[in-house]
Amino acid sequence: MSGLAELASTALACTRCPLAGGRTTVVFGEGEPHAGLMVVGEGPGREEDLQGRPFVGRSGQLLDRLLAEEAGLERAEVYIANVVKCRPPDNRDPLPEEIAACRPFLDRQVALIAPRVVLTLGRFATQVLLDTTEGITRLRGRTYPFGAGGAVIVPTFHPAAALRGGGAVVAQMRADFVRARQALTSPRPPAGTTAPSGPPPATQGSLLSGSQGR
Ligand code: SF4
Repeated sequence: MSGLAELASTALACTRCPLAGGRTTVVFGEGEPHAGLMVVGEGPGREEDLQGRPFVGRSGQLLDRLLAEEAGLERAEVYIANVVKCRPPDNRDPLPEEIAACRPFLDRQVALIAPRVVLTLGRFATQVLLDTTEGITRLRGRTYPFGAGGAVIVPTFHPAAALRGGGAVVAQMRADFVRARQALTSPRPPAGTTAPSGPPPATQGSLLSGSQGR
């Protein structure tokens, strides 16, 4: 059994946080286990909870389209996961303690997949992985070094925000997906060096204050 498969079977039985009580299925994640691009969203919605797969509703359709049109990638070529693996009731925001309880699964997924680029969808995934309280509108539009292996984070909006926000948000997402593609094909810096990036997040500290769009 691969490391990812073992981790998935652990997640499927997980009751570490109260979200276990309301889920239909655990949505562990899926995709290419050695993907250069890993996509990280917030948490499962209703369709995802029912099917046990990430991004299978309308947001997923938009994600697939942007991957294909702007990054030149099919869904099967990337790995897709969420910050929390079980659906928060009524699609509410995941609580900091739920995120903390689930974080080891995401960290292990990232370590096993070792992607070149992590595309974070929305405020939650971006704030968690960049350890910042800055909003997604300020964070997107650049790349950030991630880990010691020359990987980068490319933040963008959550597809649900684009479905609500219309063409202007989609246009910014398109630019971010192009940025992810460029980062994917650029030479990986030697281990232990930092990758090119914009300015670091303006604030650091405890997670997830504020309520701006996903
Ligand atoms: S959200 Fe994560 S930590 Fe909470 S029960 Fe589900 S798998 Fe476990």
